[in-house]
Amino acid sequence: MSNDHKDPKAAAAAAPAVSNFLRAIIDKDIADATYARAGMPSVITRFPPEPNGYLHIGHAKSICLNFGLARDYAGRCHLRFDDTNPEKEDQEYVDTIMDSVKWLGFDWEGATGNHLYFASDYFDKFYAIAEYLITAEHAYVDSQSAEDMAANRGDFSKPGVNSPFRERAASESLDLLRRMKAGEFQGGEHIVRAKIDMTSPNMNLRDPAIYRIRHAHHHRTGDAWCIYPMYDFAHPLEDAIENITHSICTLEFQDHRPFYDWVIERAAEGGFFQQPVPHQYEFARLNLTYVVTSKRKLRQLVEEGIVSGWDDPRMPTIVGIRRRGYTPESIQAFCERIGVTRSDGWIDYSTLEGCLREDLDPKAPRATAVLRPLKLIIDNFPEGETVECSSPVHPHHPERGLRLFPISKELWIEADDFMEEPSKGYFRLYPGNKVRLRYGYVVECTGCDKDENGNIIAVHCNYFADSKSGTEGSANYKVKGNIHWVSVATALEAEVRLYDRLFTDANPDAGGKDFMALLNPNALEVVKAYLEPGMSAALPDERFQFERHGYFVADRVDSVAGKPVFNRVTTLKDSWGK
Ligand code: ATP
Ligand code: MG
Repeated sequence: MSNDHKDPKAAAAAAPAVSNFLRAIIDKDIADATYARAGMPSVITRFPPEPNGYLHIGHAKSICLNFGLARDYAGRCHLRFDDTNPEKEDQEYVDTIMDSVKWLGFDWEGATGNHLYFASDYFDKFYAIAEYLITAEHAYVDSQSAEDMAANRGDFSKPGVNSPFRERAASESLDLLRRMKAGEFQGGEHIVRAKIDMTSPNMNLRDPAIYRIRHAHHHRTGDAWCIYPMYDFAHPLEDAIENITHSICTLEFQDHRPFYDWVIERAAEGGFFQQPVPHQYEFARLNLTYVVTSKRKLRQLVEEGIVSGWDDPRMPTIVGIRRRGYTPESIQAFCERIGVTRSDGWIDYSTLEGCLREDLDPKAPRATAVLRPLKLIIDNFPEGETVECSSPVHPHHPERGLRLFPISKELWIEADDFMEEPSKGYFRLYPGNKVRLRYGYVVECTGCDKDENGNIIAVHCNYFADSKSGTEGSANYKVKGNIHWVSVATALEAEVRLYDRLFTDANPDAGGKDFMALLNPNALEVVKAYLEPGMSAALPDERFQFERHGYFVADRVDSVAGKPVFNRVTTLKDSWGK
């Protein structure tokens, strides 16, 4: 979807009514003409990732929220890389983040331009504002050691103590800042701090650092800088430079808001910005059961080889979820469904799976796959003969046509569709019982063959030639069991990866837990499956419902033409709820 929209009122009226307190705030700003009076669009949001890792499902909530509000209110959303921390950042992450945002269905480019920004493009401006703050005695260069600075900061029960450098002349601080910039000092020798209140109950207001020395190479500015702004200083300025109206972040930044406002107000006093300035609003982050989203923990899974990479289909990264087979529509629907609130809570993973099923059920073509094959021999079926069977590509869309697959004497069926001694309520194949081979014939089981160890290697049956599905005779056969199958002669052999949740514990990320001890040993099972022959044409990223099994996607990395590899996205029903 495009990033620009025409009429804000019409767009707002069409916006879906979900629990989202931010809409009420925006509605009021529109009614008050807060931004319109200054000739600004009513809604300019931003998604501000730091390019230091891969995006995950939590980021998707922020993306859908920021881009979604911009869409619904005919505003725009900026994609801004918050690249002020050079050691950890890299172009590789910039690329994958852009790719993930696009894949989710959003765009920062529209009729009003290309709204892709980098905080590093504002380094000159940040620096000029730092010089201004020093000149106006709102900031100073502190030369305490890191230990003294930490000790003098106090803690929640103890007020801080002013730095002995706090009252040094503005001219001296300014000279030191310029020499910091010129590279005359080592990291940690000096730091620029805002002059606010060392006794504030809010620790974030105890003269927070705004600039620090870092002799580090930056992936975009190279070696041009050896001082870098602190996040809490840069972020409000980035928002103000871009005329963001509603700066939306997660709840842990609530205590940072007074400093956010302080920075923008002081810079506005200095003539750097005009009213109205951006405001910060906090919402509850997404906490999803059965996943970890901490970057450190995700990295550990990759580096220790627990998963095959950042895009392993078990990873909660956007690249992983995508490869797993999730659709952008299902992620958007999920973010819409969970709503936006100010109270932290947990969302059950099954909600995400439910959104995928709802999206794919009406869309995904059906197919037959036998995942745990057992041979079924129809003893009275003529040797060498085949009969074409067919079924709709989609049961509710006859216009999408038919799938064709032949039946013959030897078939593959699911191993658990046969029991030599049936348990109570078992209606599938057992000696003496009749079942329907889906879209084919009714057969009666006669017995099975075993190897020398007693393992069942083949099941035998006889078919009723007048029972074929879709023919008149089929109505004469009433059977309770209905099983799927593929012909041995024409089946496509394929690798199918049966993915499940990566952790057995609902809250592996919770403090104090050893998440590595909670890994689900059955999160991946690879099987050699037999698929209906038409599946050889499946394209990477193409999704199917394998009847009776769930939703599957042709793996985007490992599939080759004519030989797809399939990933299970999710089963047909939630098996974790119980
Ligand atoms: P870091 O520890 O590196 O800061 P981060 O997860 O906060 O990690 P950012 O790149 O800073 O990563 O995040 C970009 C945006 O995504 C931020 O605005 C942040 O608030 C939002 N975000 C991150 N995690 C979640 C989450 N679980 N739910 C909702 N929003 C999130
Ligand atoms: Mg962050």
